[in-house]
Amino acid sequence: SVPVLTIDGPSGAGKGTVSRAIARKLGWHYLDSGSIYRSLAIAAIAEGVDLSDETVVAEVAKAMVLEFECAEELTVKLDGKDITGQLGLESTGNAASMVAALPEVRKVLLQKQKDFRRPPGLVADGRDMGTVVFPDAQNKVFLTASAEERAMRRYKQLKEKGIDANLSSITQEIEERDRRDQQRKAAPLMQADDAVFIDSSDMSIETVIEQIINLIR
Ligand code: C5P
Repeated sequence: SVPVLTIDGPSGAGKGTVSRAIARKLGWHYLDSGSIYRSLAIAAIAEGVDLSDETVVAEVAKAMVLEFECAEELTVKLDGKDITGQLGLESTGNAASMVAALPEVRKVLLQKQKDFRRPPGLVADGRDMGTVVFPDAQNKVFLTASAEERAMRRYKQLKEKGIDANLSSITQEIEERDRRDQQRKAAPLMQADDAVFIDSSDMSIETVIEQIINLIR
């Protein structure tokens, strides 16, 4: 079957950068599953829906049409409208983690994610890629870093963009999101039994990429 490399882990561990780089190197497709939950959050908020209303949010998930364009950067269109600018906001990530906690929503989005598996291969980035969406993936990685390190990376990113940021509030938000992602009943963040564990706290992105490429069979 079509080869899949899954990269799961908490937010800010560097999964996005690493996954994109590996997909480019191998010439494989790239699934940023977080952006699907983020897009749904944007759609639900635009429609004024209560983010904890499972039935209604699942309806929004069924109805939304997403288009991904993966050139240099990822561009996402929701029902024909470019939402790339909103996608990366911290508030969008938090709203995404709320809709992602709803089991019916995860069920609706399952097939949309599986559809990304096309030749010659797929790098799938998320929380449950190796456990739920692609349990038969040939290569699985669980990529993490300490909360402090992830907050520091995020802080630097924002600074570079000229956005005023506060390290302690970023750390707090990251820890809160971790808690929500780990404690929810629907597909909590978990390492797959057959995943290779990588802690990137003291590693450069280049080293992480190299280690993962070396794993691929
Ligand atoms: O990875 P990213 O920060 O874009 O994900 C946003 C949120 O979407 C996460 O905090 C998580 O709650 C949810 N998510 C998920 N399953 C995935 C990817 C993301 O539940 N496979």
